[in-house]
Amino acid sequence: MSAGSLYERHRAVLPGWVALYYERPLELSHGEGRHVWDVEGNRYLDFFGGILTTMTAHALPEVTKAVAEQAARLVHSSTLYLSRPMVELAERIADLSGIEDPRVFFTTSGTEANDTALLLASAYRGGANQVLAMRNSYHGRSFSTVGLTGNAGWSPTTLSPLQTLYVHGSVRTRGPYAGLPDAEFTAAAVADLEDMLAHTRPAGVAALIAEPVQGVGGFTSGPDGLFAAFREVLAREGIVWISDEVQTGWGRTGDHFWGWQAHGAAGPPDLLTFAKGIGNGMSIGGVVGRAEIMNALDANSISTFGGSPVTMAAGLANLGYLLEHDLQSNARRVGALLRERLEAAARRLAMVREVRGRGLMIGVELVRPGTDEPDARLAALVLERAREAGLLIGKGGGPGAGVLRIAPPLSLTEAEAEEGADLLVGALERAETGWEGGDRP
Ligand code: PMP
Repeated sequence: MSAGSLYERHRAVLPGWVALYYERPLELSHGEGRHVWDVEGNRYLDFFGGILTTMTAHALPEVTKAVAEQAARLVHSSTLYLSRPMVELAERIADLSGIEDPRVFFTTSGTEANDTALLLASAYRGGANQVLAMRNSYHGRSFSTVGLTGNAGWSPTTLSPLQTLYVHGSVRTRGPYAGLPDAEFTAAAVADLEDMLAHTRPAGVAALIAEPVQGVGGFTSGPDGLFAAFREVLAREGIVWISDEVQTGWGRTGDHFWGWQAHGAAGPPDLLTFAKGIGNGMSIGGVVGRAEIMNALDANSISTFGGSPVTMAAGLANLGYLLEHDLQSNARRVGALLRERLEAAARRLAMVREVRGRGLMIGVELVRPGTDEPDARLAALVLERAREAGLLIGKGGGPGAGVLRIAPPLSLTEAEAEEGADLLVGALERAETGWEGGDRP
């Protein structure tokens, strides 16, 4: 069973859909700051952070120390007995959420956080089983969340215990309202939402779940204020607004600590789900929301491992570091620099349709040159070229999977941003030349 390369062993023992990046998959050995090393000793600038899980930095000493100390003291679940690290992290997140009289529940992943939010919203709404989700969304791939994931490439089945109604509004530059100015785009999306609700029984609709900036969907978002306008419609019917902040939380978008704040006029969402970066790689997810909804469930605790002390210790140390060093401001400043560099290069490259995003969440949409068609194969080629140059990025997002995703740890320095931009532009140029020469993966 253990003969062959690690990749062969991976293929033999894991299901085929546990997909890996790169023609020659990478085995990482260690990390430090914004860099990781593979087992062959090659160093990479990490512009994806394990899909936004490395929020502050690799091997951050503060987090490592907190984890080691807690692991040496007690590794346990946080159900049944009082847990200081869990209560302390819940208090910090409650304070930061902006939600009035909040309660926090910890899970082990973003998927489970969304599952829990749906369960709560449905219970609060008397067992309602319809959910509004955005087209091109990603909320997980468990049985309940997969049906909300409106990006077909990421949704292996349409079977779902919930009935999902997909709303338009998070993709600005494609689709029926492409090119409309902000106010008209928002008005058109609101009219669509109202029309959809007019054709259903609103009492059967539990929630709207939406990412403020779509992550897997290619770092795309509607105009600022869109969800404030949606919320007015939802509030008329008492429908719960769930903001899925799994990618947009913790200052990632630079201008705001949470993505919903770009829609500030609406006030905070009823429920907010989080995961990914808060544990800096340790598995923490959770929901924070209004007590009235959070308490709607008539059940005992619903997770054994959610809130376990070692992950909570990581979360506390990581969040403390983030706030103390104001990494949100760093994301805004260094993100703007990085984006400027990429935008300037994009003007020369026919294959780049758009550079977009905010803070350190930047998408580069690639198209087949001379057309408007997303080009997933070209994105895969750029990914390979970037790796050869010592840069790790994300791919595959967005309609047609043609978007490169850039989301480095939030402590990225200006020098690293400039270096990474140069490496990426070089990879784009080499891929463009390769493309013309027929060098397609
Ligand atoms: N929501 C969003 C917005 C995500 O990006 C993801 C993960 N890509 C999830 C939920 C699911 O999180 P997890 O993979 O931790 O279950």
